[in-house]
Amino acid sequence: MSRILVLGAGLCGLSTAMLLARDGHDVTVLERDPAEPPPAADAWEAWARPGVNQFRLPHLMAARWRVEMARELPDVLTDLVAVGGLHTNLLALLPAVQRGPWRAGDEIFETVTARRPVLEAVLSTAAAGTPGVTIRRGITVSGLLTEGTRVTGVLAEGGHTLRADLVVDCGGRRSALASWLVAAGARKPDEERADCGFVYYGRHFRGELPEGRANVLQRHESASILTLPGDNGTWSVALITSGRDRAMRGLRDPARWDAAVAAYPLAAHWCDGDPAPGVDVMAGIEDRHRSFVVDGEPVATGVVAVGDSWACTNPSLGRGATIGLLHAIGLRDVLRDTGPGEHDKLVRAFHDWTMANVEPLYRGTLWFDAHRLAELDADAAGVPYRPDDMRWAFAKATFAASLGDEEIARAYQSLTSLLATPDDLRARPGLPEKIMKLGGHAPNYPLPGPSRAELLAAIT
Ligand SMILES: Cc1cc2nc3c(=O)[nH]c(=O)nc-3n(C[C@H](O)[C@H](O)[C@H](O)COP(=O)(O)OP(=O)(O)OC[C@H]3O[C@@H](n4cnc5c(N)ncnc54)[C@H](O)[C@@H]3O)c2cc1C
Repeated sequence: MSRILVLGAGLCGLSTAMLLARDGHDVTVLERDPAEPPPAADAWEAWARPGVNQFRLPHLMAARWRVEMARELPDVLTDLVAVGGLHTNLLALLPAVQRGPWRAGDEIFETVTARRPVLEAVLSTAAAGTPGVTIRRGITVSGLLTEGTRVTGVLAEGGHTLRADLVVDCGGRRSALASWLVAAGARKPDEERADCGFVYYGRHFRGELPEGRANVLQRHESASILTLPGDNGTWSVALITSGRDRAMRGLRDPARWDAAVAAYPLAAHWCDGDPAPGVDVMAGIEDRHRSFVVDGEPVATGVVAVGDSWACTNPSLGRGATIGLLHAIGLRDVLRDTGPGEHDKLVRAFHDWTMANVEPLYRGTLWFDAHRLAELDADAAGVPYRPDDMRWAFAKATFAASLGDEEIARAYQSLTSLLATPDDLRARPGLPEKIMKLGGHAPNYPLPGPSRAELLAAIT
């Protein structure tokens, strides 16, 4: 058993804390935001969480997240459903003509989802009730305690010091771990950042959940649109554009946002409900990745980064919570094979596990984001986007073919649900040929929707 400090009580920090405590570790979670979680029913209105920028932006939990939670933390799923979390099948959001009759195995596409504050309130309550977990809110970590290159605890604002056998940073997108390490005299972790990101314009609604007429993520010229079901008769709709596309900035205005969404025939009816006031905007969303083993050597021991602190992806694919949960499970498993005193072994083993298991998910997302951003920028410039990358052509063809073929509809859903990789699809006998035959010559944007000129006209 180890004394473990988890920095951050977000989605990943809370899941990590529960997984580690259930394995017998003594876990203390330190969270900067002071507010205790209110009951889940009040979380949307009442919970101030300035530490998480995306707290009130649309979230959907992928089917893979539900699969992993059902295996590892099933009681949390039960609690989420009990407070109105939506148990749904993502395939059911497709029109019947696209998905066809139900097949054996389709239950793999089930998920349980909720607005982010509701989800986090349920996770917080479950974590706080887990023997071995202590959550301390209102504690801002400001640096690391070290002995040589080994981290032995953290410094917190107000001059507190807290010691631990292991520090797990779950400080999210804005985690300062890299600068703390440098300040403590360690080598700087390797950091990669994409140079530009998406902008996310989201609104939440309440009413009778609209029927799905297309995939939750629709890509169109100059914008993608997300239609995400939530808990307790709520749902959210988000427009996603390139941060470079200044013409889209009018989407901050609710009336212009409404006019824009009304232009999408397969999404417009998702606005038939009571909207929450205003448009929630998040810009500067980047893919960012850190490696804490540089040139084969750990920059420090006694500390690891999990979830968004390690790598954060753009949210247009809705993968962050799932990748973070997989990462937390990986840390739990690595700790099962490592003694509390094996500091160097632990950091190396976790790095190797990360590279083998979640790094490919991050790289796949980065690849997708880079293409999609370039495509949006080409749309804004009025030029076709035809990269010399057969995998992009295959990805486009898979979506187009999924609109008219039940088998490919499921294959595409398994990709977006993180249940399969593009390589898995390419390896299925006959499937790549069928995908290219049915989708290889489809228009770039096969779903009905406005052209850029029509979208701009709606916004202005
Ligand atoms: C707009 C948007 C939409 C998204 N939609 C989806 C989606 O649909 N599906 C999905 O799976 N993922 C989605 N994501 C990603 C998801 O939100 C993240 O992957 C997830 O929140 C990561 O969890 P985390 O615990 O690593 O970080 P966070 O949830 O960000 O939590 C970090 C915590 O650390 C605390 N903290 C930070 N610094 C300190 C400090 N110095 N001391 C103490 N505490 C500190 C913060 O206050 C915060 O509570 C979205 C992201 C964005 C930006």
